[in-house]
Amino acid sequence: MLAAVASAPLGAQTAPSASRGPEVPAALSAVREADLRRDVTEMASPAMRGREGGTVDEMRASMWLAEQYRRIGLQPMGEGGTWFQWVDMIRTRVSTAGSRASVGGQAMTLFRDLVPLNVVPAEAAGAVLWVADAADSTVEVRGRVVATPLLAPPPAAIRANSYTFASRYADAAVNATLARFQRRGAAAVLLVASPAVDSAFEVVASARSRGSYDVDDAVPRAADGPRRVGPPPALGAGATPAYLVRASMRDALAQQPQAELSVRVERFTTPTVNVIGGVRGTDPALRDEYVVFSSHQDANGVRVTLEGDSVHAGADDNATVTAAGLAAARAFVRQPGRRSVLFINHGAEERGLIGSRWHAAHPVVPLERIVAVLNGDMIGRNHPDSASLLGAQPPHRNSSDLVAMALRANALTGRFTLDSLWDRPTHPEGWYFRSDHLPYARLNVPALMYTTNLHDDYHTPRDDAGRIDYPKLTRMARWMYLTGWFVATAPRRPALDPGFRLER
Ligand SMILES: [Zn+2]
Repeated sequence: MLAAVASAPLGAQTAPSASRGPEVPAALSAVREADLRRDVTEMASPAMRGREGGTVDEMRASMWLAEQYRRIGLQPMGEGGTWFQWVDMIRTRVSTAGSRASVGGQAMTLFRDLVPLNVVPAEAAGAVLWVADAADSTVEVRGRVVATPLLAPPPAAIRANSYTFASRYADAAVNATLARFQRRGAAAVLLVASPAVDSAFEVVASARSRGSYDVDDAVPRAADGPRRVGPPPALGAGATPAYLVRASMRDALAQQPQAELSVRVERFTTPTVNVIGGVRGTDPALRDEYVVFSSHQDANGVRVTLEGDSVHAGADDNATVTAAGLAAARAFVRQPGRRSVLFINHGAEERGLIGSRWHAAHPVVPLERIVAVLNGDMIGRNHPDSASLLGAQPPHRNSSDLVAMALRANALTGRFTLDSLWDRPTHPEGWYFRSDHLPYARLNVPALMYTTNLHDDYHTPRDDAGRIDYPKLTRMARWMYLTGWFVATAPRRPALDPGFRLER
């Protein structure tokens, strides 16, 4: 437990700000539960259709956000005097028009009967080699189209706390089975779904059909990743072409029929956008320094229907933080700080931190003048009094000064008991590496992430506005705002810790 701050009695949390002393600005009262509730409900409404990055549904959210920025009174801080910074996202996916598959002379439909698991071009034909036990590594598979039933995954490989359990189970089963055929030279591998995986077949197909996303000339995702310019290498190059097929195909494949498989890959550019507004600081000596409030505007779009709903509304992820940013914007417009403040809603975070990786590499103000990035992701669920502050302990902490400001703000507002487990390098979810502060931290900008962590509704249609704890969200938003106020008004900007180095 990191610097746990005991919860105050309930009455203290509703006391007027005057009782909190001179550190708390009057504008804190501009962070209001009613606004947060309304903004989350708008952002996560069915009309937003899940705001999928790189689609018109994300653009709809971007337009809505820019309009909120304008009404609040922010200054446009995007490119060319607009609210927007456009990003050319590169999408690579299996072409449904150019790809073919048939088994026993029967044409199969991609992503309905058979799901390509790697985004890699492939041509394979011949009699199927049926391997009844995928664990049997003595079978010579070189050059053959292999079919085999999926193995059950090791329990530790299943991350039960994200997406639906069935789809996580399916991914783990695919990985565990496919690993046994990699590098043994099979021309292709058809993995036959078990009944458990079959129940997640549509979810897997929906996820895999999207392909993969990247952006050139941006901060790499991994510490040692190339900052590429020019066409990227073929995705999954060198990977064994692999497909998931329905459990009902098992008997037909065991007959070792002829199969013909042809996968074509298509790559194209699709736009995403960062929405950026600002409040000018009051101090002529400090106003060219910037505090960044960061959220992501996108969610996961329209996918498979679960319990009657197919829209991944992304209420907790991440309308909560977008609403908190708007609330902080209202407070800073009412009472500006000495430094300037930028509010950035990054695009296509769910597609691989695309907007933040681009903006960190091509910031709208000089990067060295960004004194801190306060990012949040999912701040409205789980126990009312628990939250996590990522970047608060080594090796993720890059500014002890900034952490101290955040802890002071927590003591004065949110009064959360901070759960330090999610900030540890050993945490299995690797939560620190999964949101928009990361590209900035990699460039040595003091950065924090506020979160109330994962829950069972993460990345499902159940992440909707009705499940948000709005009193908790209000406390989280006030905590983020007050941290930003401390940074914006401090005599000295938060220093970078010496020796900061992420573990990956
Ligand atoms: Zn998120």
